[in-house]
Amino acid sequence: MEVLVFFIGASIGSFLNVLIDRLPKNESINGRSHCDFCGKKLTPFDLIPIFSFIFLGGKCRFCHKKLSWQYPGIEILTGLIFLVIFNLQFPVSSEFSIYNFQFLKLVSFWGIASSLIVIFFSDLKYQLISDWILLSLFMFSLPAVVLTKAGLINSIVSGLIVSLPIFLIYYISHERAMGLGDVYLAGIIGFLLGWKAGYLALYSAFITGAIFGLGLMIFKKKGMKTKIAFGPFIVLGTFLMMFWGERIIQIIKKIYGF
Ligand SMILES: [Zn+2]
Repeated sequence: MEVLVFFIGASIGSFLNVLIDRLPKNESINGRSHCDFCGKKLTPFDLIPIFSFIFLGGKCRFCHKKLSWQYPGIEILTGLIFLVIFNLQFPVSSEFSIYNFQFLKLVSFWGIASSLIVIFFSDLKYQLISDWILLSLFMFSLPAVVLTKAGLINSIVSGLIVSLPIFLIYYISHERAMGLGDVYLAGIIGFLLGWKAGYLALYSAFITGAIFGLGLMIFKKKGMKTKIAFGPFIVLGTFLMMFWGERIIQIIKKIYGF
């Protein structure tokens, strides 16, 4: 089962690679993949997740240029994240059926993770979060929210509360510190996680973002003007809270005694 789940994830990851590079450029996501260098259309043999990259020695079959590590990297990453979510949703004892709500929950969390992966890499590479991927993140969050304890109204209010500080930064900095994509992203994260976990996700995003920014300034001497996308850090914070949120909130409750 584990191998199958990993391979499903890796196959989805192969599709995510296409979305990461095509959505920000508004290219059609239909149409076969082609080599970045020679433009030759890739055959199904070139598109088997991970294996194609290994068999072809990481090179294009036609022009022999080296292919980016992004392709197998994201396939492996997606496979692993799918596996982690699968193990969280289906502890060994529980029954597995594609006809129950557990399965719907699993698929919605896989969809959420896939959308977050696309947001992470397209924002990192192009500093752009496509509206389509935000919509996809929201659509997959909807069943996740409905199927978990949080009510719909509560979740919408949480989304507004969590997006507010990002909106203020966006508004005050005249779009320089944050983009509108970050505002929407924070809103959906609040909707999905609730306001407590949502704020904790933002908080960890600010901390990791600040550490990363400082590191860049020290080691690469990047000036303050160089823009660092904030989306990837929100995504990291979201994964942190998705996987360990309840434990983190328990620890904070114990420390502050509320
Ligand atoms: Zn080529």
